[in-house]
Amino acid sequence: MMNTETIHVAGMAVELVRKPIKNLHIGVYPPHGRVRVAAPTAVSTDAVRVAVVTRLGWIKKKQREFAGQARQTERRYISGETHYVFGKPLRLLVRPQETSRCSIQLDPSDRLLMIVPTGSTTAQKANWLASWYRGLLRERAAPRMEKWSERLGVPEPRLGIKLMRTKWGSCNPGKGLVWLNLDLAKKPLAALDYVVLHEMAHFLSAKHDEVFLGILDKNLPGWRQVRADLNALPLSA
Ligand SMILES: [Zn+2]
Repeated sequence: MMNTETIHVAGMAVELVRKPIKNLHIGVYPPHGRVRVAAPTAVSTDAVRVAVVTRLGWIKKKQREFAGQARQTERRYISGETHYVFGKPLRLLVRPQETSRCSIQLDPSDRLLMIVPTGSTTAQKANWLASWYRGLLRERAAPRMEKWSERLGVPEPRLGIKLMRTKWGSCNPGKGLVWLNLDLAKKPLAALDYVVLHEMAHFLSAKHDEVFLGILDKNLPGWRQVRADLNALPLSA
């Protein structure tokens, strides 16, 4: 039989389940970021607390991700909503018109103007905005790919963009390919620069080893702060 109790660690309620297992496991679950620990029967409650505190940064990050997802589902693509473009909050202005296509533009007064066919659905508007973000990200990523490939002395990779659930970027050096998370179009440009450099540094070292860290330190000395700021922001996928 399983023995479940609730303990409090760093002001956080943690569900503790004792089981006949070998290793302690910490999980964070949607939709509200509930924390659950499965611990071997012999492990003391104090040891569980220590394990939770050790992983507190990771737990908080997962909880922010879930909070971000919750916010994202509330998007209705109506006038007055705030949407981010490269870290800048913009007010959405949706204008239905007798047109067959959607057009999106940034106007000088920091509004995101979306002209849509009359009767467009929320899903259609979400798709149009996503493909607009995609074009924007490609446009801003291209010169950064070029810059880092020159500085690092690696051939310029092809760029793929997709929504990713847990990562800002990934790469396949063998295929000469870098993937960026579409959500980077909503984050500050410093983050885009860092993620492109990070992925391209993997063309020289597959792991996050000393060689890899040396490349980052040399080329973008402030990268740790940029990464910390980026990880404090939610992933939406
Ligand atoms: Zn990496």
